[in-house]
Amino acid sequence: MQPTPAPAPSPTSPAAPVPIAIARGDGIGPEIMAATLQVLEAAGARIEPHEIEIGEKVYLRGVPAGIEPQAWDVLRRTRVFLKAPITTPRGGGYKSLNVTTRTALGLYANVRPCVSYDPFIKSGHPGMNLVIVRENEEDVYTGIEYRQTQEMVECLKLISRPGCERIARYAFEFARRTGRRKVTCFTKDNIMKLTDGLFRQVFDATAADYPEITTENLIVDIGAAFLADQPERFEVLVMPNLYGDIMSDIAAQISGSVGLCGSANIGTECAMFEAVHGSAPDLAGRDVANPSGLIQAAVMMLAHIGQGDVAARLHNAWLRTIEDGIHTADIWDPERSKSRVGTEAFALAVCARLGLEPRHLPVASYQSGAPLPVAAPQTAAQRRELVGVDVFLGWDAPGRDPAQLAAAVAAAASTSPLHLRAITNRGVKVWPGGFPETLCTDHWRCRFTPRAGGPATQAEVVDLLARITGAGLDCIKTENLYSFDGTPGYSAIPTE
Ligand code: NAD
Repeated sequence: MQPTPAPAPSPTSPAAPVPIAIARGDGIGPEIMAATLQVLEAAGARIEPHEIEIGEKVYLRGVPAGIEPQAWDVLRRTRVFLKAPITTPRGGGYKSLNVTTRTALGLYANVRPCVSYDPFIKSGHPGMNLVIVRENEEDVYTGIEYRQTQEMVECLKLISRPGCERIARYAFEFARRTGRRKVTCFTKDNIMKLTDGLFRQVFDATAADYPEITTENLIVDIGAAFLADQPERFEVLVMPNLYGDIMSDIAAQISGSVGLCGSANIGTECAMFEAVHGSAPDLAGRDVANPSGLIQAAVMMLAHIGQGDVAARLHNAWLRTIEDGIHTADIWDPERSKSRVGTEAFALAVCARLGLEPRHLPVASYQSGAPLPVAAPQTAAQRRELVGVDVFLGWDAPGRDPAQLAAAVAAAASTSPLHLRAITNRGVKVWPGGFPETLCTDHWRCRFTPRAGGPATQAEVVDLLARITGAGLDCIKTENLYSFDGTPGYSAIPTE
């Protein structure tokens, strides 16, 4: 299928239809997309869909990313994407289309509301109504990994100040705009003091601009325990990418059914909306899939493009359908449901309730207006000074005695202005001192700082490396040690 060309984006006005890209996806995707487009049209959504093809068929045509250049053109012109789930073919070589789309289009915020609809849909947590705002581009998801020695592999966890600033501000703006009064931040800053520490520090600084909102910081492990056990205590949660990925699946699962949750991926230029679940090939073509996840995503899309009136109309009709006990098979419960319907009949039931509101569940309302503002990065430049270097070595001499390595390294560097201070193995100091019980791998970190104190120079670092490699030692990589306004920008080695 050829993609439909989309016109250049125009300013949104209540009257002008907004061009959006749609992809019908794989498995149950075409069925739930048809149902969603039907309810969007009936609700009066002012949208102009432009279809693109992505996913399994494209992968199997030999395109490893699952999306072709002309589809990117449509996405970049429309800037709003309603996406049905796709099937990633089994086997290696296929890139995750979700990760590609998020990073290529700068979709930095993944927003996942998880709500319980008890007593109409059974849930162990009747009062649950939370939104997870997951950072979507950084952390270990940058996919930068290396094998460095026979024994050691490395994954870089990258956290930037602008990345933290925009996700923290998004979470607070989202809370303010949706009338939520508490934002909780999950990190592991007791261990990752620089990376997660920056995330928390920016969260705390951003909170100062939102005095009406209560804030809370939790270490992710106890936070996860509270989330699984008492989700009612949370309103908005914000966290780095990996924790957000894991926590949002826990939250979706305990809210009642994964088939009910929609999600938004928001960037400054583009946004993508989709159901949380996958393409459910086991249900494909049987008219049994629940279209609610994609309908919820469509509601979020309407709010995003400034059609809050239509978003509320559609959301309230959906709530009323759920209250009326018109349920698809995945949420069917003989004690709570009244009518068991398929995908198409569910969509018709929602259309029939447009204009109605729920009688028991809270009525949905959305502000119309421009997408949420995002603060420009406000990094104040600090004085950066080179104060040393960590040299990583691959070394596998018999016995792996740290004192033997220290002697070899110190001899190589004996006339360098940089002096060997300590050696660690997997972060544990093994020289000077150290315990024989510590397991030493073939991957060593040697910390050098200027013999005479004060700053170091790049030339001294290069000279040091020449001496070390000249002595036959295997240098894998280096990390420069910088201070920022006098504060070390690197983790200390204990007892250093
Ligand atoms: P899945 O979410 O497709 O299915 C998990 C279970 O939930 C299945 O039993 C399924 O029948 C049920 N289910 C899912 N959606 C439902 C709905 N709307 N109504 C009723 N029941 C529903 O997860 P999976 O089986 O792990 O993955 C299947 C395929 O989907 C894989 O190829 C995977 O790569 C892909 N996937 C795509 C996305 C996406 O496009 N965003 C996300 C996750 C998985």
